[in-house]
Amino acid sequence: APTAAFIGLGAMGTPMAAQLAGQMPTLVWNRTPGKAEAHAAEYGSTASDLEELAGANFIFSCLPTSAEVDIYIDRLLPKLRPGTLWIDCTSGRPAAAREQAARLSAAGVEFLDAPVSGGPAGAKAGTLAVMVGGEAATFERALPLLNTFGGTVLLVGPVGSGFAVKAVNNVLMGLHLLSVAEGLASLKKQGVDLAPALTVLNAGSGSSFSSQNKVSQQVFTRQFSPMFKLGLLAKDAGIALENIQEVQASAPLIAATAMLLRAAQATVGSDVDHTEAVKLVELLNGVELS
Ligand code: NDP
Repeated sequence: APTAAFIGLGAMGTPMAAQLAGQMPTLVWNRTPGKAEAHAAEYGSTASDLEELAGANFIFSCLPTSAEVDIYIDRLLPKLRPGTLWIDCTSGRPAAAREQAARLSAAGVEFLDAPVSGGPAGAKAGTLAVMVGGEAATFERALPLLNTFGGTVLLVGPVGSGFAVKAVNNVLMGLHLLSVAEGLASLKKQGVDLAPALTVLNAGSGSSFSSQNKVSQQVFTRQFSPMFKLGLLAKDAGIALENIQEVQASAPLIAATAMLLRAAQATVGSDVDHTEAVKLVELLNGVELS
């Protein structure tokens, strides 16, 4: 029977590896080993030494950035067998994916970039959006595994394309979050009652995923539940900007969003939930969104 291996049991890796373990033998490894042991106990995966992962047919990684993925490709590459498929679910850089695919290809190992959107809840529900870059035949091999945590799983182009789409997805999400915060801060200064204002905006054409699912739930309540780190969102927006520069596209709103998210990260912190980025807008306006 084919086996899977998973590197990186963070907020996303934990539920994604749990879905895989429900379908096939799954080895897990995490830098902090206690998380791998807890995963094995809770989800029936097998906590393993890093080197043992090299024997799996499908190796998944879900780490903060492409730089960490490079470390583990380097460490496992001498042990990987031809025919192995490496699937990177990190929100990484397209340029890094192309280099990683080339290095692995020299050892007969296939590669897909397969970043995800939908948060830990989407992984638990098996409804993640998965945007995949790579060869069509490689994608077909991976599809049954990606479907364990994915709901909308699509090949979007050659290697690197998944990361490119993911970066755009997240910078749009950041733009929507910051822009609804700006709109609401200006309304508060005009004396408007924010709770009904948000309700009608959400019934109107100015609504977004962020306005519908984040503002009353995380911002008005001041809850800011930790699900997705602000530092990771700022990283993703930076990748979108890097990609735009590479092809000399013109995207001033994306550039501004990337810089505002960096400013928010510097002001509010890297490890807080990304919804705390609205605190930069609050600071700029001297109001609290509540
Ligand atoms: P977390 O911060 O929750 O987890 C990070 C994981 O990476 C942990 O397993 C951590 O190990 C490991 N790690 C960090 N640095 C290193 C290192 N130098 N060497 C080895 N392992 C390391 O991140 P998420 O799970 O939230 O995010 C993972 C990826 O998924 C990111 O690219 C993110 O942008 C993306 N993503 C996140 C979403 C979310 O809602 N959270 C949604 C969609 C994509 P340790 O336990 O030892 O710290």
